[in-house]
Amino acid sequence: MNYEAELRVAVDSVKLASRLCSRVQKAMAPDVLKKKDRSPVTVADYGSQALICRALAAAYPSDPVIGEEDSSALNDPENADFMTQIRSQIEHAGVTADENRIRDWIDRGGSKTYCDRFWTLDPIDGTKGFVRKEQFAVSLALLVDGRIVVAALACPNLPAIDGGSAGMVFSAVHSEGSWCEPLDESSTRQPVRVSNVALPADAAFCESVESGHSAHGKSARVKARLGIAKDPVRLDSQAKYAVVARGEAEVYLRLPTRADYREKIWDHAGGVLVVEEAGGRVTDIHGKALEFHHGYQLEANRGVVVSNGLFHDAVIESIASVFEE
Ligand code: AMP
Ligand code: MG
Repeated sequence: MNYEAELRVAVDSVKLASRLCSRVQKAMAPDVLKKKDRSPVTVADYGSQALICRALAAAYPSDPVIGEEDSSALNDPENADFMTQIRSQIEHAGVTADENRIRDWIDRGGSKTYCDRFWTLDPIDGTKGFVRKEQFAVSLALLVDGRIVVAALACPNLPAIDGGSAGMVFSAVHSEGSWCEPLDESSTRQPVRVSNVALPADAAFCESVESGHSAHGKSARVKARLGIAKDPVRLDSQAKYAVVARGEAEVYLRLPTRADYREKIWDHAGGVLVVEEAGGRVTDIHGKALEFHHGYQLEANRGVVVSNGLFHDAVIESIASVFEE
C-alpha cells in the first residue's frame, strides 16, 4: 500500500490548522488566560478540527474521523459568540463558509467506533499548555485494520533541534520512516531517529506538566530505580513523543493517576507512529502493545511507556516494582 497521498493531505492540513492555533494562542491576552470560559482555546480547538475534517472530507469522503471535539457545546447560548470567532479564524485561514458548514466539518470528527479504516484527530492536544502559551500539538493519524499507517504531528512551539525558529511538523508512514520539517517552510523533510543512549544512567526522561495526567511521584521512584540522574523534562502534549523520536530524551512515562482512566486514541496515535518509525518502542505500563481497535479509547491498556527501545524492558520492570510498593 502506498500512503504518500494520505501523508500529503495529513501534513498539509495539520500545518494549516496549527497556523490557526498559533494565531489564536498569540492573540490571547493575559486577562483572557485567567477567564474560566477559556473561549480562545475553544475557538482554536473547533477551528483546527473544522479545517482538518474539511480537508479529509474533500480527499477521503468515506473515511470516518474519531476526533476529540463535537459541535454540541456550540448550541449553548453562553457560547453564541464562539461560532462568530471560529468563522472569522477559519476565514483568516483562507476558507469562507457559513456556520452550518463549519458545524458539519466539526461533526465529521464525531465518530466514536472502530472500523477498518479511519482517522483519529486531536485538534489541540495539551490544551493546558496551549493556555499557558507553552507546548501543544495538532495530531492526526490514519488507521487501517487497527494499525497506525500515517501520522502527522505538528508541534508549533517546539524549536528546531539546532535551536532554530519554533514550529515543527513530524510525520511518519508505517514501514517507511519518520521525518520532520519546519512548519513555516516547504523545505524538504529530514529523517528523525531516536538516540542510541543504551544506559539508563545517561538517559533523559520526559512526562506531562500536569500531575493529574501522569503520576509524578511514581515516575520519580521509577527514575531512581533505573538510576536516571537527570531531572525530568516536563512538557505538554504529544510534543513528548517528538522529543523521544528525535533523540532529545530516551523515555516518556505516562503513569496512571486513576485506575479507571482510559487513554484516548487521539492523544497517542500520531505520536506512537512517529516514535516507532524513528526506531523507538511504545507499550503500556505492563509492556503490552497499544491496541487501537477498541473505539475511541485504549480500552485494553493502562498508561503509556515510550522509549528509544534500548532498555524498554528495564523500564517496564521498574514500573512494576514501583506499582507493587
Ligand atoms: P499531556 O499534555 O501529555 O498532559 O496530555 C494532555 C491530555 O491528557 C489531554 O488531551 C487529555 O485527553 C488527557 N487526560 C485528561 N485526563 C487524564 C488523566 N487522568 N490521565 C491521563 N491523561 C489524561
Ligand atoms: Mg489531547
